Amino acid sequence: MHNNEMFLLKLGEVVLKGLNRRSFEDKLVSNVRWRLKKHGSFHVYIRQSTIYVEPQKDDCDMEAAWKSCCQMFGVAAVARAVPCDKTVEAIVETAKTYLADEFAKARTFKVESKRADKQFYLNSIQISQAVGGELAEAFPHVTVDVHKPDLTVFVEIREKAAYVHAPAVPGAGGLPVGMGGHAVSLLSGGLDSPVSSWMMARRGVELEMVHFVSPPYTSQQALDKVLELAQLLTAYCGRMIVHVIPFTEIQEEIRKNCPEEYFTLIMRRFMMRISEAVAKKAGAKALVTGESLGQVASQTMMALGVTEDVTSMPVLRPLIGMDKVEIIRIAREIGTYDTSILPYEDCCTVFTPRHPATRPNVEDVRKAEAALDVEGLVAKALEGESWVRVKA
Ligand code: ATP
Ligand code: MG
Repeated sequence: MHNNEMFLLKLGEVVLKGLNRRSFEDKLVSNVRWRLKKHGSFHVYIRQSTIYVEPQKDDCDMEAAWKSCCQMFGVAAVARAVPCDKTVEAIVETAKTYLADEFAKARTFKVESKRADKQFYLNSIQISQAVGGELAEAFPHVTVDVHKPDLTVFVEIREKAAYVHAPAVPGAGGLPVGMGGHAVSLLSGGLDSPVSSWMMARRGVELEMVHFVSPPYTSQQALDKVLELAQLLTAYCGRMIVHVIPFTEIQEEIRKNCPEEYFTLIMRRFMMRISEAVAKKAGAKALVTGESLGQVASQTMMALGVTEDVTSMPVLRPLIGMDKVEIIRIAREIGTYDTSILPYEDCCTVFTPRHPATRPNVEDVRKAEAALDVEGLVAKALEGESWVRVKA
């Protein structure tokens, strides 16, 4: 690693109407600062839609910081770069040493320049020509090819310095977390809900998690697995709270008093009511689930309607139109797959009906549910709530 190395983060979309660039940028800079804290002391600032991340001390963990920058929502592209004096000589020297390995592998190259500092005495074409000419001399085995080069050397002339870097890589995209509002995500230990949480966080939504436990039917290991998933998600979402809600009594009451075909649906209605209460207390404005149309009996269109019947909050279901294969691909990409497939039971998998209703009618389910003290059970579950703060 070059000892001066730093990162340039290019901003992603700023699309929402009424969402001004300034608050987008402020949010992103503060997210980057916050997220990099644990990797050492960095100077993070923004100029002309580029965030500069400069290590301040030798003890910065640059690899970990790089990974964090790649996972930062709101960033369109990330590049490792080296700053140098704003002279052609310094730029050529820097490219020669910093990109030596890349040059060794390349047969053709080109220089692409950007002049953000309009006072600089050469324009971008002149910079590329001057720097490209000298690099071609320095590395006789490579020739310039402006159409399909093996290596593109980027030169940016900015306010304080010139920057040299190889091609940027795509960033995590989306919007900075916190720009898209605040929601409560129902996190189970399965494959889907970590992915749905990640998808909403990518749209800038700040999340709090709710997880339902049914001891002794569900184990401590099952809860630990969910906390591990939450931990993995903090790389994208930042720190978060996981609300842990006792669900045993509700499930036992349902089993004792309701028709078997509605077990799951009634249980899911309780989950929605309790999650809504948690959301209201937290000031969150929506619920997020990992439901996907038709995946299981409780996710048919009619079943979703029955579930949604008990809440007036928007229920966001980012996976609704996705196939399992696509969901699994994302789970692998974001690193939650291996944890999700650990074989611990979820409260959804205890007391599952043999023949669940797939075309339920809201009225019938409401009637079946009337056998229960709904409000009392909800209140009791909320009283038993505990929460865990999961740090990034
Ligand atoms: P997942 O893979 O996310 O568990 P799933 O396909 O297994 O989803 P269900 O078990 O029917 O589907 O659950 C549907 C959704 O309900 C989940 O995606 C999640 O959002 C929520 N959910 C299920 N179980 C729990 C739980 N124990 N705690 C919190 N939310 C849950
Ligand atoms: Mg599940």
